[in-house]
Amino acid sequence: NGSLTGRTALVTGASRGIGRAIALRLAADGALVAVHYGSNVTAAKETIELITEAGGRAFAVHAELGRPGDAATLWAGFDAGLRDIGAAPGLDILVNNAAIGRSKGIDAVTPEEFDAVFAVNVRAPFFIVQHGLDRIRDGGRIINISSGVTRIAYPETIAYSMTKGALDTFSLTLAKVLGARNITVNSVSPGIVDTDVNADWLRDNPDAWAHAAAYSTFNRVGEPADIADVVAFVASADARWVSGQNIDATGGSHL
Ligand code: NDP
Repeated sequence: NGSLTGRTALVTGASRGIGRAIALRLAADGALVAVHYGSNVTAAKETIELITEAGGRAFAVHAELGRPGDAATLWAGFDAGLRDIGAAPGLDILVNNAAIGRSKGIDAVTPEEFDAVFAVNVRAPFFIVQHGLDRIRDGGRIINISSGVTRIAYPETIAYSMTKGALDTFSLTLAKVLGARNITVNSVSPGIVDTDVNADWLRDNPDAWAHAAAYSTFNRVGEPADIADVVAFVASADARWVSGQNIDATGGSHL
């Protein structure tokens, strides 16, 4: 709808799933979108094709998150991508969406798995923001994709759930720091959404699908666009007076 024309956005994990839907929506609203991915270059190119076919503008940024130097790699790729297409440096909207999660309870999580999930889901967004602060323009947006599991106890993914709790505290605290620059910082929390991360237990399994749908008051499983539309609002000028919040986008799960 053109409301983000002239803005630049970076969406981490935009090759697939919710991140792709966010990238498509922000591009449809007029933003130039940096499509970050970890390893699936084919999927990242598909996201970019979908954006350009619809008349939008996008470029790819590669960085494996959860490794030493990940934030520096990401921003170097971002800066280079802007240069290559002749766009001005800097950005207006950062969406920290990339994450990993294992279905494991307190008895089963290994120290290595614990470190890995915190490295990708917490450490990476923290240092992406730290390294990005001088690139994000005043009046900008930082949006962290959290999860309904910070409100609804879900012991099956305890370590993953804890990373999202840390991310919410990051949103709250950072919002206070960046208010002076009119930058809003918020979390958006999806419920169960039909993406690759749930493919093995959810897709092609009618019983699991019905169970997952029943979490929501609308009795259906979320689609990536359900989340992207909420992110687009938080990214828009209309959301200028909302900061430090966790916006529940779980389709009214467990009300
Ligand atoms: P997907 O698994 O479908 O996609 C994950 C994306 O993140 C991919 O683009 C992937 O890149 C990227 N990524 C993952 N790990 C890394 C890494 N180490 N380095 C770089 N990139 C990485 O996830 P969803 O779309 O389902 O989830 C998106 C967000 O929504 C996450 O924060 C998740 O926690 C949250 N969420 C999801 C829910 C759901 O039910 N789906 C529920 C609640 C929250 P590549 O393609 O290159 O692998």
